[in-house]
Formats: sequence, structure tokens, C-alpha cells
Amino acid sequence: MIEIGRAPEARREQTMIQATERSILNSKIPAGPMAEKWSSFKANCKLVSPANKRKHTIIVVGTGLAGGAAAASLAELGYNVLNFCIQDSPRRAHSVAAQGGINAAKNYQNDGDSVHRLFYDTIKGGDFRAREANVHRLAELSVNIIDQCVAQGVPFAREYGGTLANRSFGGAQVSRTFYARGQTGQQLLLGAYGQLMRQVDAGRVKLFPRREMLDLVQVDGVARGIICRNLVSGEIESYAADAVLVATGGYSTVFFLSTCAVNCNATAIWRCHKRGAYFANPCYTQIHPTCLPLLGESQSKLTLMSESLRNDGRVWVPKTKGDKRPPHEIPEVERDYFLERRYPAFGNLVPRDIASRAAKAICDEGRGVGATGYSVYLDFGDAIKRLGQATIKERYGNLFAMYEEITADDPYHTPMRIYPAPHYTMGGLWVDYNLMSTIPGLHVLGEANFSDHGANRLGASALMQGLSDGYFVIPYTLGDYLASNKLPKVGTDHDAFKQAVAGVKDQTARLLAVKGTKTVRDYHWELGRILWDQVGMGRNAKGLTQAISDIRALREDYWKNVKVGGTGDDLNKSLEFAGRVADFMELGELMARDALERNESCGGHFREEYQTEEGEALRNDKDFCHVAAWEYQGEGAVPVRHQEALSFEAVHLAQRSYK
Ligand SMILES: Cc1cc2nc3c(=O)[nH]c(=O)nc-3n(C[C@H](O)[C@H](O)[C@H](O)COP(=O)(O)OP(=O)(O)OC[C@H]3O[C@@H](n4cnc5c(N)ncnc54)[C@H](O)[C@@H]3O)c2cc1C
Repeated sequence: MIEIGRAPEARREQTMIQATERSILNSKIPAGPMAEKWSSFKANCKLVSPANKRKHTIIVVGTGLAGGAAAASLAELGYNVLNFCIQDSPRRAHSVAAQGGINAAKNYQNDGDSVHRLFYDTIKGGDFRAREANVHRLAELSVNIIDQCVAQGVPFAREYGGTLANRSFGGAQVSRTFYARGQTGQQLLLGAYGQLMRQVDAGRVKLFPRREMLDLVQVDGVARGIICRNLVSGEIESYAADAVLVATGGYSTVFFLSTCAVNCNATAIWRCHKRGAYFANPCYTQIHPTCLPLLGESQSKLTLMSESLRNDGRVWVPKTKGDKRPPHEIPEVERDYFLERRYPAFGNLVPRDIASRAAKAICDEGRGVGATGYSVYLDFGDAIKRLGQATIKERYGNLFAMYEEITADDPYHTPMRIYPAPHYTMGGLWVDYNLMSTIPGLHVLGEANFSDHGANRLGASALMQGLSDGYFVIPYTLGDYLASNKLPKVGTDHDAFKQAVAGVKDQTARLLAVKGTKTVRDYHWELGRILWDQVGMGRNAKGLTQAISDIRALREDYWKNVKVGGTGDDLNKSLEFAGRVADFMELGELMARDALERNESCGGHFREEYQTEEGEALRNDKDFCHVAAWEYQGEGAVPVRHQEALSFEAVHLAQRSYK
């Protein structure tokens, strides 16, 4: 394995992968000053010659911004790429749903932005629980992403004079968010898709839509392939390669109700975890403050209202408890703009964790609005008076239309009603600086890795990270890996593939054989309620302990009483979901366990026992300034918790303040 600070010559001598070293969490951060680490890595990493690139096959699971960008970039370099997704088209990856924008330290506004400021805001936004060197690289690469996407023709919003426009997102006092109305993810994905299809046409990418990765195959401890279910024919298929890249997105659908599409899942990363990849910080989930509120049991998701709306929308509730008057009858002096009151420096644009907790606290006090009392107003009245309805429509028209379509309320005339909902998962598979997991050859990109966001992700930073991983980081780090290791050719006739296929078939048969009475949806809903109540916005030791035992009981019952109709031999949505929910049951328990072990509050992880007098998160840097990375120990067994210490040299650890 490549070691920190080892001279390039010494690294070149290395030819063998030592899978046994994998229990040591070596982040492999390059030596040298913070701002030079990435340049130094690029200058010293090993390269694969064009003739040799053609000999390598790379599996990329996922076609979202991270996977799509990686597949296109690697093929452009000359590698053979096999690219998989569960949807019928790469364009339907969930990145398509991203609304508000993507950050970059271009400083087009001349308002004081810089690479260092974006780096600092991201580290602080993540409550000092991210790896400093990764975040600095991310901030450096942010500027390249915009250039790359503009060159692809991504239609970012522009000013009258033609320059790219920016808006603000939470946790920043500058305007650095590039956007394409409320469809930024879709436009960026079309850019990546164009590049991907160019490579499909050139014969260097082979696409495999409607495939679900159900297992990782290792040969001699090294990732060499995957097992998939063909979601249309039901066939179990094997694919071999020289390296496996997993970019399968986040897992907040574990809560059942989230801002994500119901198809989002943790299966690929969870199965890798069960094969030996450590799972980092599973309890760091982001609850987004501006979503449609829960109205009943028939909702399948809680639609997001982009954070960009907080540029112009003002969040408020009535000052008086139980005030049931409609919003337009409540005079200005009787309104509490609680974010502006509590956080005057950042106002409505405080980071998501802070805005979410503030909304919950107000509703718990009995000042929430709507039938359930669990929502707050997001009001555009002032902005419309100041800027006119046409400007607001230009900025957020599609979001307003979406809100009206779902709620039948016109937000140009009545304030939106919003409430926090599970959104983004900062936890994920542990990776080193090179994006490699604890399994040699298995690389993890985008939301699927434990990422660069620490305990809380700032808005508009996920797209930045996914594209940075895919377009700019992995083309270098994967080359270094391939050039540094001897990888004998392996085919799908290897015993390791046969064993993995047998395991996948066995799990499918077990699920179909239960023939119980409760639907997969019933179980998923119950799991989601346990997680939302005990592992949601507020957590405490008693609730977390209870959650672990409740989830264990639910899981046991699942395997005795779940009803999965149909067969394994053709398209079977019930079977697909059953496998995913089985994984969610195990992941949910790990989330609770991780939250229980982390005796501090930081970012999205708010332990009620650890808070300041003003109700803000109280970190414990002495004992918890580390990444927790969990090692799987077998079904039902308690996993082992490892730690990667976090050290900060370019920023000072400080109590986060947005006041
Ligand atoms: C409603 C919404 C709005 C958002 N808005 C913003 C925003 O404005 N700015 C921002 O920065 N971030 C935003 N985010 C977050 C951001 O969109 C995501 O974090 C990011 O797009 C994730 O990209 P990804 O490539 O990692 O994964 P995804 O785009 O989720 O792609 C996952 C891919 O993996 C495939 N896959 C999954 N499981 C399997 C499997 N088992 N086998 C085979 N293939 C599999 C899927 O088919 C898909 O191709 C938003 C998120 C949501 C939900």
C-alpha cells in the first residue's frame, strides 16, 4: 500500500497489494503544506501509459454526477469502462433531482471569496469533523468544475452582460453558488451524460441499465468484480474488472420518508461493507430545513424546497402559541422571524442543521403552524414587494410551480409551509485521500463515500464533491493504483464469482420463501419511524439504546413475516425493495449504534445531553475529534469501531457560531 511521505521512487518499487494491511486506517494524505498537497500528489503519482490503459477494464457502479463523470473521464483517458445503474437510463440517476446549485470559489462577485474561504466555510459548516486535506482539494477543484461544465454547454444562469450569475447558500457570507434555475442537477447531469454517450459511441463505455449490484467480488482480498441482478429478466450476472468504483448515492431513504426518490438505497455500499469495507460516520445524516411537511401515512417522500429559496424567503411563526389565524391576518409585530432573531449575521441562510433544529424547537414549543403544528412559514411577501413577482418567478418559478401542484397553495400569495426532512447522508464507506476504501481496488465516489462534509454538509456542496471526485480526482488516483499494483487477469469463471452468485441467489430464495403477511413497505415505514423518532434531529442515550433493540426485533420479525410476491425470474419490484429494506434494517442499527457511541453533538448529530445553554451543539474535541469507521463482524454480531484521528493545521478548532 502507498504510504504517506514515501518517496515516489520507493512507491514505484511496490508491486504487491497487501490486503492484510486493510485494518489500519491510513488516510494517505500527501505530505507538504495544505495548499500544495494535491499538486504534489499529481506531480508524484504513477501514470498508466496510453497503450496500457486500453488493457484495463474498470467497473463504475452508478451514473449520477459522481459515477457518470468518472465513467466518461476514465473512458476519455482510454480505459474500458463498464457502467451500471438501476434506472432505465443514466439520465435518471438521482442527481437529476438536485435543485439549487453548485459552489465554486470563482469570486466572480468580487465579494471576498477565495479557495481558502470556501475551504474554511466547508470545514466549519461540517463542524470540524471532516478531513482537512480532502476539503482543501475540493475547494481547489471547485473552479475547474465550472469551467468544465461551461465547456460542455451546461446552461448556468447568467447576468445581463453574459457573465455567470451566483446566489448564496447557507453557511456562507459570499455568493458563490452557480445555478440553472431550480434544475442545476439535471443540467449538470445532461452535461456528464453527453460526455458519457460520446464514449459509449466510441466503444469505450458499455452501459448496463436496469442492473442492481448485489455483491462485490474479491480475489485474494482485492476487489475484482461485481454480481448484479438484471432487474428486467431476473438473471444474476457476473462482471470482472481490474478495479471497482462504487458511486451509488446516499441512503437517507432508510428513514422511509426523505427528500430522495424511493429507488435510492444503500444496497451496493452495504454489501461492500459486509465484504470488509469500513462504514464511516453512519450517524451523520442531514435533515434539510425546507421540505414539505408530513401530512399522513400515504406520502412516499417529502419533497424538497431548495435552500436557494432562503435567499429571498423569510422563515417565521406567530409569536403567540396556538395562534391559528391565517398568515395574512397576523400583523408584522406578531411574527417571529426566529432565524433572523437568533442568528443576525447569517439570518435565514444559517446552515441546514442549525435551521432545522431551530424549526423543530419552535414547533415543540407549540408555535408551529398548519393542522399538525409541525411546520413553519417560508414567506416571499417582502421579496415580491421589493423585486416584483416576475423576478421571483425567474429565480424560482419551477419550485413554486412544484409546490403549488403538490399543496394546491399559491406561494406567490400565501407563504409556503415547510418542515425539516431527512435529505443527505454525510456517512458512507470510508475512503482514503485516493478515494479507496479499506478493500484494495474498491473506490467509492460521491455521496456513497463518507465524503468531505464532516458532520454537516453545506448546501450546493454535494454536486461539487461528486463532480470533483468523478472528473478530477479519480482519473489520477485510479491511475496511481493501477500502475502501482500487479493485477493478474481474472475472469468470471473464478471460484470467487461462483460463490458470490450462490450467495445472492440464496438471499433471493430466502426472501421469496418467507411468504408472510406484512408488506415490505409496512416494515420500511416502521423502521423509518423508529429512526426518525430516535435517530433523527434529536438523539439521546436512552432513545438510541431503545432504537437498537427495536430495530433488532423488527429485523427478526421481517425474516419471519415479510410478504414478497412473485418470483425471482423476471421483473419484481417487491423483491427489489425487499433486498434493500433488509439492508436498511442492518444499516439503521449501525446508525443508532454510531450515534450512541459519539458522546458529543456536532453538525447534524445532535445529542440532547450535549448542548450549550443556548441549545447549540456542544462538541467534545478531546474525545471525539475523529472519524468513526465500523468493521462488520457478521450477521447480528456487534461491529468493531475504528478511529481515524482528525488533525487541523490550516484552521483552528472553534465553537461554531453564526450569530
Ligand atoms: C431533492 C434534492 C435536491 C438536491 N439539491 C442539491 C443542490 O442543489 N446542490 C447540491 O450540491 N446537492 C443537492 N442535492 C444532493 C445531490 O443531488 C446528491 O448528493 C448528488 O447528486 C449525489 O450524486 P451521486 O452521483 O453520488 O449519486 P446519485 O445521483 O444518487 O446516483 C446514484 C447512481 O447509482 C445507481 N445505483 C444505486 N444503487 C445501485 C445498485 N445497487 N446497483 C447499480 N446501480 C445503483 C443509480 O442508478 C444511480 O445511477 C440534492 C439532493 C436531493 C435529493
